[in-house]
Amino acid sequence: MDRLEIVEADITTLDVDAIVNAANTSLLGGGGVDGAIHRAAGKELLAECRMLNGCRTGEAKITKGYNLKARHVIHTVGPVYSNGRQGEPELLAACYRNSLVLAVENGLKTIAFPLISTGVYGYPLEEATPIALREIKAFLETHPDFERVIVACFSRKAYDLYMQLTME
Ligand code: ADP
Repeated sequence: MDRLEIVEADITTLDVDAIVNAANTSLLGGGGVDGAIHRAAGKELLAECRMLNGCRTGEAKITKGYNLKARHVIHTVGPVYSNGRQGEPELLAACYRNSLVLAVENGLKTIAFPLISTGVYGYPLEEATPIALREIKAFLETHPDFERVIVACFSRKAYDLYMQLTME
């Protein structure tokens, strides 16, 4: 799948049509990748987010990218992981799917994802990765004009595991 690229990177540095933010339901900023994106984009991003009235878990909303290299930010809210049997897999899959649909609806061709829910929200990387890969691959198969999906891993460990699982 040559339109899927796994990289070890800080997602805020990537030059793509949209980076995806692993936000919380308030959309008013937080820690982790959310905090990094807001810091890099500048306070105008928070101002636009204030007008969106939050976002439900599994859904996605789009804003401009402001000071980021990325032209847009797609904010999605991953599930908080409890034991994997509380609908977390379906909600995580919905995050990827709804973000990609929103990208297409806005005429975008390149997107970068962080590893949604695998930080503070506690989703085990081993369980989250196959879900992400399945959704991204299914999307690319049905959208031949979409140019590139990047998965940005923030650590070497996550990158190595992702690469291993991509090969399977
Ligand atoms: P969540 O609340 O959805 O778990 P986090 O931001 O805590 O969100 O973590 C999601 C993932 O994003 C984690 O794998 C974390 O290592 C990663 N991450 C944190 N900062 C960045 C960044 N600047 N670029 C890419 N990934 C990041």
